[in-house]
Amino acid sequence: MRILITAGPTHEPIDGVRYIGNRSSGKMGVAIAESALAGGHDVTLIAGPLTIPHPIATRRIDVQTAAQMSAAVHAEFQGCQLLIMAAAVADWRPRAVQSGKLRRSGTLVIECEPTADIVAAMGSLKRPDQRIVGFSLEQDGEISRAYEKLLSKKLDMMVFNPIATMESDTITPVLLWSGGRREIIHSIYKRAFADILLERAVGLF
Ligand code: C5P
Repeated sequence: MRILITAGPTHEPIDGVRYIGNRSSGKMGVAIAESALAGGHDVTLIAGPLTIPHPIATRRIDVQTAAQMSAAVHAEFQGCQLLIMAAAVADWRPRAVQSGKLRRSGTLVIECEPTADIVAAMGSLKRPDQRIVGFSLEQDGEISRAYEKLLSKKLDMMVFNPIATMESDTITPVLLWSGGRREIIHSIYKRAFADILLERAVGLF
């Protein structure tokens, strides 16, 4: 199967030195890429700035910003059957990027605008032969918000995960299907969860 996976944060520049981004290592997305490679799938990994090594035998597209990730996903989506959107895309970006390094002088007010919702755009473009899996990082217990996002973004499956997942080696996920089915999984290493997730994702077809 041709699988497109996104991983890591995006960095939205404030100036030539600083950025806004989510606290994400990319461990989950890379674990899914490793699992998919081990399963013999044709894998493309779109990676934000990762803080961990990535699998070597993968076709990889490196990006920094949400806009670059959006362009890469738009370019690759039609050639894939399964999109797994594990990236922690920044939700806002500074409206204007200052060149060079801003000098420190008192309070700095940064006006931000929302980034485009990449996975929601793919949900609208999705063909009947394609499936999309998203990730939803929520405050503990807010599973209903993850389910609302699954429906509004037109995804096939959503992985709810609590805030403690960030930068951790483990995850305590709940899998949500568009028909309302749920699967609760106890704390598990991300690499082991990646195998379960791929099995469930292949089962969507
Ligand atoms: O809305 P929220 O950010 O919680 O949704 C999470 C899902 O949406 C993840 O799969 C994430 O990769 C995706 N997303 C996106 N583009 C954004 C924000 C989130 O594709 N700008």
